[in-house]
Amino acid sequence: MKLFSDSLPFYKANFHCHTTMSDGHLTPAECMRFYHERGYEVLSITDHRSVTIPCDPPEGLLMIPGLELDYADSLNCAHILGLNVRADIEEKWKRGTPPQETIDLIHSCGGTAILAHPAWSLNSPQFLMSLAHVDGVEIYNSVSTLPTNADRADSSNLLDIAWSSGLTLWPVLGNDDSHQYYPEGGVAATMIQAAEKTPESLLAALRNGAVYATQGPRFRQIEIIGEEVVVTCSPVHAVVFCSNLTYTAGRVVLGSNLTRASYRIKASERFLRIELHDETGKRAWSTPIALR
Ligand SMILES: [Zn+2]
Ligand SMILES: [Zn+2]
Repeated sequence: MKLFSDSLPFYKANFHCHTTMSDGHLTPAECMRFYHERGYEVLSITDHRSVTIPCDPPEGLLMIPGLELDYADSLNCAHILGLNVRADIEEKWKRGTPPQETIDLIHSCGGTAILAHPAWSLNSPQFLMSLAHVDGVEIYNSVSTLPTNADRADSSNLLDIAWSSGLTLWPVLGNDDSHQYYPEGGVAATMIQAAEKTPESLLAALRNGAVYATQGPRFRQIEIIGEEVVVTCSPVHAVVFCSNLTYTAGRVVLGSNLTRASYRIKASERFLRIELHDETGKRAWSTPIALR
């Protein structure tokens, strides 16, 4: 079983950023130029509670409308992105709408619902498991670290606990959540493999799991052959196989300019995901694979 097609292209996307239409530091036009100059091919501006639809994107940059809706009470916080959502969601959504109703509303307005930065939000596994029909989750959110936040950009440890408890909320995304743009802009990307560069094709591919999150390293293929997983990738210095097991032999494969690594799946592993680490500390995160 191969996770990716051998022939379809990957598109580099950022599905989470803010402009001067909410609390971001760049105008929508500056934001589009910022991401286009950094090689992004797909961009969603997700201003708080409003859909920003800029005109005249640079050639080659596909814009997908979006917004970010938020909820907080004394126990829980949830920020949810609505991608490719109709703008009439602005009138239908009210502050204080519970997270599940927000997710359902995004769907009823034609959108795809993504849970943003669960580590920043301090989401518990129990809370994550209470949500239904979420289409994806940010495993990395670039702004959720210094200099403006505590170091909670990487949600992988939190999600590993939840996935080990039975959560099946995936695929994973890597988004910048740019506000200041320097230094967080252009740090992370969501790579989607799709047949067409259209919002419908890209988001369907995302929901189907043809996606990974990255700060730079690239997955080429992830293939399961019997009880073995084979990963091919851009040159890295570590390939890490993460699962519900606390320790397992062979989990970390180290080397210089590694472009291939393999791992034997253990009988008690219920899910498996792969991380790439390059020499400069940049990482990539695959979407978990349900094993049994
Ligand atoms: Zn947020
Ligand atoms: Zn945000």
